[in-house]
Amino acid sequence: MSDSISEISCHVCASPGLATVKGFEELCRVTSDCKPWVRGGRLSVCLACGCVQKVIDKEWLSEIERIYGSYSIYYQSDGVEQAVFDSNSGQSALRSTRMLEALASHLKLPEAGRLLDVGCGNGALLRAFSRFAPRWTLAGAELNDKTRETVESIEGVEALYVGAPAQIPGDFDMVTMIHMLEHIPGPVEYLSNLQDKLKPGALLLVEVPNYLQNPFDLLVADHSSHFTARTAADLIRRAGYEVMFAATDWVPKELTLVARASLPKEEEIPASIEPDSLKAASRTVEWLRATVSAALECSKQEMFGLFGTSIAATWLFAEIGDAVSFFVDEDPARVGKTFMGRPVYHPDEAPSAGHVFVALPPVMAQAVGKRLAKTGVQYHLPPAHSF
Ligand SMILES: [Zn+2]
Repeated sequence: MSDSISEISCHVCASPGLATVKGFEELCRVTSDCKPWVRGGRLSVCLACGCVQKVIDKEWLSEIERIYGSYSIYYQSDGVEQAVFDSNSGQSALRSTRMLEALASHLKLPEAGRLLDVGCGNGALLRAFSRFAPRWTLAGAELNDKTRETVESIEGVEALYVGAPAQIPGDFDMVTMIHMLEHIPGPVEYLSNLQDKLKPGALLLVEVPNYLQNPFDLLVADHSSHFTARTAADLIRRAGYEVMFAATDWVPKELTLVARASLPKEEEIPASIEPDSLKAASRTVEWLRATVSAALECSKQEMFGLFGTSIAATWLFAEIGDAVSFFVDEDPARVGKTFMGRPVYHPDEAPSAGHVFVALPPVMAQAVGKRLAKTGVQYHLPPAHSF
């Protein structure tokens, strides 16, 4: 299960001794902006706090520098935010809208306030929030000003700030971090410093991938942490927040955590909160390896394609790309374009004698396979899995 203990300490709880997950280094990886990335990563599990993480060493830091140097957000769909699909109905909604609707059903937000979205990208969350709570004043923070014009054109946005939150003037009633925390080495210190920007009792909303529902998240080279609801909530508590919600069902395959800024706690967070972490991470890596074998077997058929154009499909393309003649996707922003030099078809237009491997987590793959079974195309599913 684990072949060695790393010399690097946990980047969440600082405990020494990360157990390396065997077999991960043989898998191709993918960047969070959906580009294939080389094999050779190191995945580990902290035996104290249970957080699954990359080994944050010199090699990893130099890799992420290269990845962010040529980063392009949502490039497959010309900058449009990725749709969240209901795998049973095929209905889509923008991720930010889905998340805000769930938030509103659990919590009454003040009519007005000031919101900061850290790592705002091209403003997907800010755009949704502006429609959702039009009387709020909004601000975005990013590492550079590439998206300034787009973000500042959103109704209600006061400015895009470049640099660390500490440099932004004033304080906030709410801070959002959408798909941001999993990128940050030393996340406890980061969230703890962020408290200086929050008014007393202000809300922190954190959205991160749930690797137990989305095993492909482990393959994202620039994700430093791979959370479960427990390890994410634990981390946020360590940074001195009171966790109100750690939801696994507000957005499919993702975790939504809502916390309240409070004074740093005196008591220590107990260790070994997620004792089966190493087992779960090892099983997930085994499943990923089995998925490559299944896709490879299936790719021996004539007219072979992959379902999806996101992380999982990009990764399988990196593993078995030569055999892939096309992609199938239901997202209208992607259909009719090319991806990795191959055409992207809507399921209705996929080659009728084609064989398509569904690059999705097992439960979603089953739902998609069932729903599309009528179209004549043969859909092949990844192996079953209990995480
Ligand atoms: Zn730890």
